[in-house]
Amino acid sequence: MAKVESFALDHTKVKAPYVRLITEELGQNKDVISNFDLRLVQPNENAIPTAGLHTIEHLLAGLLRDRLTGVIDCSPFGCRTGFHLITWGKHSTVEVAEALKDALNEIAFNITWDDVQGTDIYSCGNYRDHSLFSAKEWAKKILEEGISSDPFVRKII
Ligand code: ZN
Repeated sequence: MAKVESFALDHTKVKAPYVRLITEELGQNKDVISNFDLRLVQPNENAIPTAGLHTIEHLLAGLLRDRLTGVIDCSPFGCRTGFHLITWGKHSTVEVAEALKDALNEIAFNITWDDVQGTDIYSCGNYRDHSLFSAKEWAKKILEEGISSDPFVRKII
């Protein structure tokens, strides 16, 4: 089976919350696609409950596109400790961490339920499983801890 970089990462050595560049891949037409690890909570110590993570997912989908160029996708890890962010082109981890911080700040302090996209039976695959309250509380916790631009050494932006 193909070896996947993310599973080679020693999850006991990282210090969340952080942004980590996983890969920059070159397509046939020389387009660069970047893959980032947006780790919001410490692996094997915490996990964001599904409803809060789901609402954070729906919000980051819009908020990160407003703050970063070339966003292709931002999807939660199955372990519920963070997200993959895939973008066209290159971005520094500082740039991504600043966009993430600003987006979480928006979630924590400004977003209301009316701002959350995709919360009905037509636009979401599990619309009953959302919690803006949980999303806000986890966003505040992550902001209080600070987001590092390095996974192993705390370089809080
Ligand atoms: Zn959904």
